[in-house]
This record gives sequence, C-alpha cells and structure tokens, in this order.
Amino acid sequence: MTLLLKGARPYGEDAVDILVKDGVIAAIGESLSTTADTIDATGLVVLPGLVDLHTHLREPGREDTETVLTGSRAAALGGFTAVHAMANTDPVADTAGVVEQVWRLGNDAGLVDVVPVGAVTVGLGGEQLAELGAMADSAARVRVFSDDGKCVSDPALMRRALEYVKALDGVVAQHAEEPRLPVGAQMPGGARSARLGLTGWPAVAEEAIIARDVLLAEHVGARLHVCHVSTAGSVELIRWAKSRGVQVTAEVTPHHLLLTDAQAEGYDATFKVNPPLRTAEDVAALRAGLADGTIDAVATDHAPHAGEDKECEWSAARPGMLGLEQALSVVVDTMVDTGLLTWREVADRMSVRPAQIGRLAGQGRPIAVGEPANLVLLDPSARAVVDPAALASKSRNSPYAGRELPARVVHTLLRGELSVLDGKVQK
Ligand SMILES: [Zn+2]
Repeated sequence: MTLLLKGARPYGEDAVDILVKDGVIAAIGESLSTTADTIDATGLVVLPGLVDLHTHLREPGREDTETVLTGSRAAALGGFTAVHAMANTDPVADTAGVVEQVWRLGNDAGLVDVVPVGAVTVGLGGEQLAELGAMADSAARVRVFSDDGKCVSDPALMRRALEYVKALDGVVAQHAEEPRLPVGAQMPGGARSARLGLTGWPAVAEEAIIARDVLLAEHVGARLHVCHVSTAGSVELIRWAKSRGVQVTAEVTPHHLLLTDAQAEGYDATFKVNPPLRTAEDVAALRAGLADGTIDAVATDHAPHAGEDKECEWSAARPGMLGLEQALSVVVDTMVDTGLLTWREVADRMSVRPAQIGRLAGQGRPIAVGEPANLVLLDPSARAVVDPAALASKSRNSPYAGRELPARVVHTLLRGELSVLDGKVQK
C-alpha cells in the first residue's frame, strides 16, 4: 500500500510531503507526487505514533467494561500505535498463556500494537514471583512487569524481581503505594480531605516506596519504572536518584497534569483515582518534572469501569478514569499551550521514551526515510467539548466530560495502514 501525506508538519516544523510505502516512510520532500492515494494534511502536525506504558484493557475478565478491540479503537483514536496492557485482568496475566492470549487478541484487532505487561507476582498476591522468564520468552515478548493496582511492598521480593528483570533486559513498573500507610484512605492528606470527612491518602505512602525502590534498583543495578507519579516529593526523589545514576524512569498521567483534588469537592466518583488527584502545587511540580525530563513519559492509566462501579457513593466506587482518547489533548492543554514542551519534546515523552522503556524496537522512531510509518497527524487548532457518549471506549468514566480541550487527532497510521482516517477508526 502506498499513501502520500501532503503538507504535513513533522514536529510542528516546516510543511513537507511524506510518502509511505509498504509500511515504511519511503520519501520526505517538497512537492512529491504519486499515482496512489493522497491525503491533504495541510496544517496538521505529524508526530511518531504515541506509545502508552500503562493501559487497562480489562480482557480477559471484564469484557463488559472494555475489550482488547474497544480499547484498541480508543487508543488509535487517541493517536497511539502501541499500548502496554496491564496485568490485573481476570485471570491475572502472570503466565505465558495469558500474556500470549492478550497479545493474540491485539494482533486480531490490528489497530495498535498491544504489548502485554506481565505480573510480578502470582495472582498479584505479592508473595511469590510469577514466571517472568517464561513470559519474556513467550510470543508476547514481555519486558515490562507490574503488579499495578497493587504495590510490590515486600522489599526482599522486590529485590528478587529486580534481579530477574535485569537478566531479561526488562523493567519492574512499580505502583508505589506502601499498603500500611493509606489504610481506609480515599483522598490525599491535609485540610481538604479533613473537611470532606475522608481519610487521608498521604503523599508519604507513595514517596516511601519510591525512596526504597530507587535504592534497591541502584543496589541491584536493574531498571525501575515508577507508575503514575503524583506528588512533588516523588519528583524530587526521582530527580535525586537520576543524579546518582540510578536506572529509574517515571511516568505521569494526563489527569494528574490537569486536575486537582478540588475536583473531588462534589463527591463525584468519576474523580476517584489511585493515586488520588492532589494539590495545585503537586500539579505544578509534575508539569515541571515532565518539562525538564525528570519524568520520562506520559502514560494514561486508562481505567474503564462499569457505570454501577462509579455511579455510587465515593467510598464504594472503584478508582480509575478513562484516558486514551484525550491524553494528547490534555498534554497540549497543560504542556504545549503553556510553553512547557515543544512538539519534539511531546514526541519524546509520549513516543520515544516510552518505546525505549518498553524495549519496543519498531515504535518511537524518528520521522525519517526508512523508518516504520507509525504516525499520528493532529490538528493543533481544533477545540472540542468532550462528550463521553461519543467515546470508542466501552466505559463512560471520563473525567473530562463537558470540558473543552485543544487539538484533535485526525489520522493515525500503524505501519503505513490507516487505523484512523478523518477522526474515524477504520476497524
Ligand atoms: Zn496503579
């Protein structure tokens, strides 16, 4: 298949024509012509296809809330060409069999590369290491291991996990939450949670685990990735660890870049998430950390939930919110329109670095001749109000409902094939 993208702006720079042939970028130049299909991309910014390190696709187990197919549609519409599917499914992705099942479902959907994450411990139980080597050697080629949703809280087990992943060229992605600190917690600690009558979910529960784990990673000489960093103190700890040469990387979610604990004032459980939305000072520190590269990546923590698990009282609701379809718009709103990131840096934080962390060879590549044609084309001048009913996800728990956000994904290409054309998913 051959396709010519006319007048697109790589990384927001000067307009060029991009010829895509047989899955790769065949030519870049001015006034290219072809007898094949042409797409008028005048004014559109083109970036490498986005890579998400943290997606919950809910299959197997909760296909009523999301499937690999519906999650893949949401991802493609968000400009993603690869997503890491978290392991907390039912059954848990803790064997070669389950990760291969998810990987096959992703291939069948054919819209994005679905990259399974393997559980660190059997059944996410936190007691016995899962078959990390078997998952790494499987067809799914797992390199990212995580008990996300739960913290690997036993330090001896965490050290052994780091030793194993080091040998596999893998990484442990830690959900940093000391389980004995936020008992019964619903909200961050401090005045606001006291006023709302909810127990505190203190920053120290996150920071204590990050401090411990960067020291363990340094001791073992292994790679550590910190999921959904949410506090100013966490950013400081990671900055310190990087300055020591620790092999630590970190991600921040779109919702932690935009929303604060003020959103929880109305007890709308849409805004219940783990880690919780925090203060405006935390949000500012997260943006600064992403801007200076202390935080490597934006990862969605896309977490679909059924209506009955959200339209209930705060304490009974499940934590988590949708993210795939609005992630890029939120980053444009919080980081590009504010002057904190250039388009090249957006490509770095949403494609290049997450692909490196996940060891995905064909993703996060530069827009250059001979490279795989994994691309997203977006209209930076578009603005739209988010309508949850219009989302491709099977669930409706978007924290951005009714909010006007900038930028629209117009086209997405996976290895030269259009997964999204004119804002419409192709499968
Ligand atoms: Zn988590």
